[in-house]
Amino acid sequence: MLVKTETVIRPQNGRSSHPRDGRESLLGLTQDELARVLIAMGEKPFRGRQMADWLYARGAADFDSMSNLPQSLRQRLDAEFRIGTLTEHGRRETADRRTRKVAYALPDKGVVESVYMSTPRRVTFCLSSQHGCGFACRFCATGRMGRGRNLSAGEILEQAIRLRRELPDGERDFNVVMMGMGEPLENYDAVMGALGILTDPNGMSVPSKRVTISTVGLVPQILRLAEEKRRYRLAISLHAASDELRSKLMPVNQRFPLEQLMQAVRTHIERVRQRVTFEYILIEEINDTMRDATRLVRLVGQLPCRINLIPYNPIGPGKFRRPSPERIQRFVDYLAPRVAAVTVRYSQGVEIGAACGQLAGEAESGPR
Ligand code: SAH
Repeated sequence: MLVKTETVIRPQNGRSSHPRDGRESLLGLTQDELARVLIAMGEKPFRGRQMADWLYARGAADFDSMSNLPQSLRQRLDAEFRIGTLTEHGRRETADRRTRKVAYALPDKGVVESVYMSTPRRVTFCLSSQHGCGFACRFCATGRMGRGRNLSAGEILEQAIRLRRELPDGERDFNVVMMGMGEPLENYDAVMGALGILTDPNGMSVPSKRVTISTVGLVPQILRLAEEKRRYRLAISLHAASDELRSKLMPVNQRFPLEQLMQAVRTHIERVRQRVTFEYILIEEINDTMRDATRLVRLVGQLPCRINLIPYNPIGPGKFRRPSPERIQRFVDYLAPRVAAVTVRYSQGVEIGAACGQLAGEAESGPR
């Protein structure tokens, strides 16, 4: 997968061009909420549907382009509201443009990153849910930033709306993975708000099964997803099959150890009737031995699941290494006949720092 590529860096001036910026953003409001805003401006309720259509289905970047709204209304809207709050701050693209990491400046401070990934068969947007992350997983660059703040529903959605503008002409379909910066289930309400609009047929019309939520394993929220029967795909960042090792790699395991986590996953599978994915980073000598493979099969072998093996992506100095192809193959060969499905995911964009675990608002601190 790692073809030789050149990195294209196109930094941009990070400031918003609009002079009046106390304006509230409409992105993230549901159709009903938009209707209420418009009714408060003296408009008829059907304007809510029109506005949702412009903002979400069509992705209008300004009020002026909303051609079925009276000119005077467009001007009043522009005086009071804005569409989104993110400013493109910089981007890196592989030479073939198949992978693009885009940095967005937040209106307060800080930068979050999103990734546009494409293969000949599909396009996937990897979105951030928080600025920084408080879970401190040892192998993850975002974890090194420490806790930041939750993104709003609008800030999460805006990443998808902006990336959608980059689809090739005539192309409308894309997948979404909540695998960027942050822990999506720690920011539950905003993430569900964004995904609700993303999957709404009057919104962005992305089928729920094309949306994946990845989590470090927050048990109460996994149970809540099950309880609410949310039909998004669930991915669990597992990375170790014993409590001892997992607690070392992922401190969150001390709060929600494997037995609790697996119980929650079983409940989720039963309620939502969907298989889960377990993500398992392969780190040489740390979790890639045959003993680890055996334990992993014992832990999840009976479940309707997919194991997604991610060869470790380097995130700067440290003792972790990616295993050799032979070691990876040995691990796969052991799992393949013993679990429902196993795949190896070589992240796209390693060379531009856009791969799994590498997102860290690089533009904030300059290239590593
Ligand atoms: N907080 C969520 C969302 C982040 S997703 C979660 O942890 O699931 C990012 C995915 O990339 C997770 O599976 C994460 O464990 C994995 N990852 C993190 N650092 C990595 C690295 N250095 N190499 C490969 N994968 C990594």
